[in-house]
Amino acid sequence: MRVTLPGGWWDDGGRLHRAAELGVLTGRDEEALTGVAAAATPRAVTEVLARCLHRLGDLQPVPPAVVRELLVGDREWLLLQLRRATFGDLVRGDLMCPWPSCGKRVTLEFSAGDVPVRTAPDPRPWYELPLPGSSVVRFRLPTGGDAEELGPLAVRDPGSAATLLLARCIGRIGEVADPGPEVVADLPADDRWRIESEMERLAPAVDREVDTPCPECGRTFTVTFDIHQYVFGELRTNVSTLYREVHQLASHYHWSEAEIMGMPRDRRETYLDVLAGELERLNDGA
Ligand SMILES: [Zn+2]
Repeated sequence: MRVTLPGGWWDDGGRLHRAAELGVLTGRDEEALTGVAAAATPRAVTEVLARCLHRLGDLQPVPPAVVRELLVGDREWLLLQLRRATFGDLVRGDLMCPWPSCGKRVTLEFSAGDVPVRTAPDPRPWYELPLPGSSVVRFRLPTGGDAEELGPLAVRDPGSAATLLLARCIGRIGEVADPGPEVVADLPADDRWRIESEMERLAPAVDREVDTPCPECGRTFTVTFDIHQYVFGELRTNVSTLYREVHQLASHYHWSEAEIMGMPRDRRETYLDVLAGELERLNDGA
């Protein structure tokens, strides 16, 4: 699957790479990711993407270090595309309608391809923003590597994690190079807000808010679609059925385990469908 990143990756020569090739997960990948999928951490995102991001610009294969350097929004978007390629486009979820007069349990369905994505408006490796106090701040956008470093802290102490993230992304404030967390923590709230808003405006992003009508009462509500939780949840569930499927295919087709595990999920499912049809036909004839 050929895709174009909504942000892009800058190589050391200052070239931007947005064209990428994404493969689907095979049974072997799903098996290897069992332990990883237990927690939807940034490190797990790196492991999943390192397995299926086959090409980025003229980089082939793509080393995990580069997967780590991808922008947070690009990684999220790639995970969504991988989900579409491996499990299909339809996203399904059960939840309660938030309207008090309704409150019914409803099943929502939407197409993963309809989840809005915001392309980076002005891709650059570094940005400069003049602050009102006449100093200029030079910054880059947050990457998977930042998320990996700060992931555990972000859960325990989101405030400190936000300061450390800003310190990692700021290359210079006025005359001060690599200012560090203490300098960033001392920034006036207004300046900090300006930098953070500007980062958000410039970063590529997948829109997590999906507006959908309630099938019971017809009123619209907004659902937050957590791509990481959703995709890793599916990976976990799927691995539990994987071995059963391998057993079933192996016992009927006599393929080796290695052959079956090397198939992407949709091929496996197609053979299982054919097999189910055949078995049904045999039963009907009996
Ligand atoms: Zn409702």
